[in-house]
Amino acid sequence: MCVCLGTIEDVDTEFNWYYEASKKCCSAIKKEGDIVKCKKENKVLKSIVPRFRLKIIVYDNTDDATFVLFEKEVQKMLNKSASELLDIQEMKGDRYGFLEAFTQLLGKKLLFKVDIPSKHTSGTNRNFTVINSMDDQKLIDKWMGLYMKIESERYKQEQIEYESVKDVEG
Ligand SMILES: [Zn+2]
Repeated sequence: MCVCLGTIEDVDTEFNWYYEASKKCCSAIKKEGDIVKCKKENKVLKSIVPRFRLKIIVYDNTDDATFVLFEKEVQKMLNKSASELLDIQEMKGDRYGFLEAFTQLLGKKLLFKVDIPSKHTSGTNRNFTVINSMDDQKLIDKWMGLYMKIESERYKQEQIEYESVKDVEG
C-alpha cells in the first residue's frame, strides 16, 4: 500500500465506467444464457446493480499511472451512485452526459491511498486500485510536510555517501 499526492489528469473512457454487480456482495456477474450468476459465489442472482469502476490517469509530479476507482470513491467525488448516474442519463437520453459528469474530476488534487500488488503482473498493465482518497487541504499539507522531510533526509544521506566516496577515492 502507498500514499501519494496526485492530480487527476484524465478519465479513461476506453473502458466502461461501471460494471454490473450482485446487489448483495458487489461482486461482478456472469451470464449463462438467461441466468445471471455471481462470479464469486456462483449463485443465481435475481437483482443486479451497476457499480462504478472508473479508470483515471493520475499524475504525481514524476509519472502518470492508471488508478481504478470503485463505487465508494467515485460516489464521494460526484455525490452520486453509479445507479443514480445511469438513471439520470438514461432519462435525459444522453449517454455522453456521463463524460460531462466525469469532467468534474479533472484537475482534482487528492491524496490517494492505493493498493500496490506485491507482484506486478506486467509492465504495461499498471492499474492501481484506490482504497481511499482525501481532498482535505490540511491533510495534504501535513503529508507534504512529511514528504519534504523524508526527501531532505534522503538528500542529506546521499550527500554523506557522496562525500565519503570522495574521501576514499581521494
Ligand atoms: Zn456474490
